[in-house]
Amino acid sequence: MRTALTIAGADPSGGAGIQADLKVFESFGVAGLSAITALTAQDGRAVHAVLPVPPGFLLKEVTVLLKRFRVDAVKVGMLGTGENAVALAGLFKKTGFPKIVLDTVLASTGGRPLIDEGGADAIKKLLKYACIVTPNLREASIITGLVVHDLRSMEEAARAIHSMGAQSVLIKGGHLEGTPIDVLFDGNNFDYFKGRRLGGPRERFHGTGCILSAGIAASLANGRGVKKAVEEARERLVSILKKRST
Ligand code: PLP
Repeated sequence: MRTALTIAGADPSGGAGIQADLKVFESFGVAGLSAITALTAQDGRAVHAVLPVPPGFLLKEVTVLLKRFRVDAVKVGMLGTGENAVALAGLFKKTGFPKIVLDTVLASTGGRPLIDEGGADAIKKLLKYACIVTPNLREASIITGLVVHDLRSMEEAARAIHSMGAQSVLIKGGHLEGTPIDVLFDGNNFDYFKGRRLGGPRERFHGTGCILSAGIAASLANGRGVKKAVEEARERLVSILKKRST
């Protein structure tokens, strides 16, 4: 059985983080492993508190798994601290994982920081190990220093993030005005994935970024290419969100 590892925060409410990632892996028929970067206290509406694990402990979590299991793909989500990001960069340098999906989580939708101050800079150290990185508009703006707000600036940001070392860049356009479009850049070509805006309360969309990046990792673990993995993950995300409304 193919195996994917999620390195992310725990969400006791189940819609985001490790808990969501493992459910997504299972839905792709992929065995799931997990290493927790931070505990959170949250109820699916708001994050109330965050308690990151120390970097030495995070490395221990991952290295004991690597000794026992073969890992086909890795998803990196919420990291809690810049120190955790730096520790993982050191590990990735040594292990040379081929398929790392980096979800550049900086804050919850409600605005609660999910990484400490300076964490965004530390996350940049992970870009060169990423097979694909999946920032939203705000994260793409912070990483590049550009104002990313429309298709043109998404393309510009995708080029900039690619030049920082990520092999492929998927800029998520869920917060665009009008039709949501995700932009994928592989260093040569752009692909555009148009969506249909779903309505409903904010909590319906809790963890959408986690679900998408976990789906990409699972699909890559199953041997798909990056573009196909994005397509499969987007389809799975829509079906999960639709179920939440019923
Ligand atoms: N909690 C955890 C553990 C997360 O990893 C994330 C997002 O990556 C969130 C909460 C934020 O979820 P959202 O902003 O989608 O509500």
